[in-house]
Amino acid sequence: RDEVNIISGALELKKKIVSDVMTRLEDVFMLSYDAILDFETVSEIMKQGYSRIPVYEGSHSNIVTVLYIKDLAFVDPDDNTPLQTLCKFYQNPCNFVFEDTTLDVMFRQFKEGIKGHMAFVHRVNSEGEGDPFYETIGLVTLEDVIEELIQSEIVDE
Ligand code: ADP
Repeated sequence: RDEVNIISGALELKKKIVSDVMTRLEDVFMLSYDAILDFETVSEIMKQGYSRIPVYEGSHSNIVTVLYIKDLAFVDPDDNTPLQTLCKFYQNPCNFVFEDTTLDVMFRQFKEGIKGHMAFVHRVNSEGEGDPFYETIGLVTLEDVIEELIQSEIVDE
């Protein structure tokens, strides 16, 4: 019975793509690269409660790095540290995947060690006059994929 559930869950993963389960860009809590880690900003970060926060430069779709909450361990809000300082020190990389990546492939990539178990979802935008460009449309974490697996198991019971 368990084996059947796991197999059907795994088969479901093959049918779904990351854009089905991602958190959309407009719902992502991010920080600007220019932000100052003052009391107000640090309070907001704590209030949001996410363990990883994308950092953008200019527009929200231009994500340049990720801030891990644990990187804030030695930050004193009274120092008004620029976020840039932390970003330059830690240089946490961003991982990108295409929106049509199937969840079984995504799951494997997370297992194989995508740092921080988070990836940004992008697509090639070839609408409009200009050259095609990569457009970031959301983020996906290991939890999003596992939730899908569990849901399938429950539905299949
Ligand atoms: P956390 O460790 O921050 O709780 P999880 O990996 O457990 O993050 O993901 C929980 C959910 O929150 C997932 O649906 C994920 O897409 C979403 N998520 C993660 N980080 C952010 C963020 N910075 N802003 C908005 N949603 C996020």
